[in-house]
Amino acid sequence: MTLHRIRGGPRLSVDNDRCERFGTCEWEAPGLFELGRDGRLRYRRRVSDEDAERAAAAARCCPMQAIVVRGVPG
Ligand code: SF4
Repeated sequence: MTLHRIRGGPRLSVDNDRCERFGTCEWEAPGLFELGRDGRLRYRRRVSDEDAERAAAAARCCPMQAIVVRGVPG
C-alpha cells in the first residue's frame, strides 16, 4: 500500500499490471471498487475524505499491493 498527500482531495488508482482480480478490495470497500462479470475492476478515481479511510483499508488488504491512495486527509 502506498499513501501520498497531494492537493485536490483523495484519489485512487490501481496498477493493472499488478492487479490479479481477486476482488478483496470490493469486499473491503464496496461502492469504491467493483469487480464486474467481465473480469474488469472498476473503481472511483476520486473519493471523499470519509471514503479515503475505506480506500486505505482496501489498499492494505490488496494481496498484490496494487492500490495507491493519494491525498489522504491528515
Ligand atoms: S484486491 Fe488488489 S489484486 Fe484484488 S482486485 Fe482489488 S486491486 Fe486487484
